[in-house]
Amino acid sequence: MHELSITQSILDISLKHAEAANAARIVNIHLVIGKFSSVVDDSVQFYWDMIADGTIAKGALLHFTRVPAELTCRDCGFVFEPDDTTFECPHCLSPRVKISKGEELRVESIDVE
Ligand SMILES: [Zn+2]
Repeated sequence: MHELSITQSILDISLKHAEAANAARIVNIHLVIGKFSSVVDDSVQFYWDMIADGTIAKGALLHFTRVPAELTCRDCGFVFEPDDTTFECPHCLSPRVKISKGEELRVESIDVE
């Protein structure tokens, strides 16, 4: 259900841009997904094929680019890129960190014809 609503908003954004460009068809959609985003690429493509049917985005290919995450230490303010095993601040060793980047999902660009 999570992916369905996300896919719907990707479609809405893409159609709006395509309309503004007077496009007849959307060919490619480039998406940027944060490393910590729980979105699964395959299910987005699956829902896409369902909901894009009957629109000018039908058959468009989705391209996903994963971007690295970024954590900020709540104690010393140090910003770092976590590895997969530890979320500890490398500067002061505090475990109190927050995700400052990496949960996003956005439409980077679309190709139309
Ligand atoms: Zn720290």
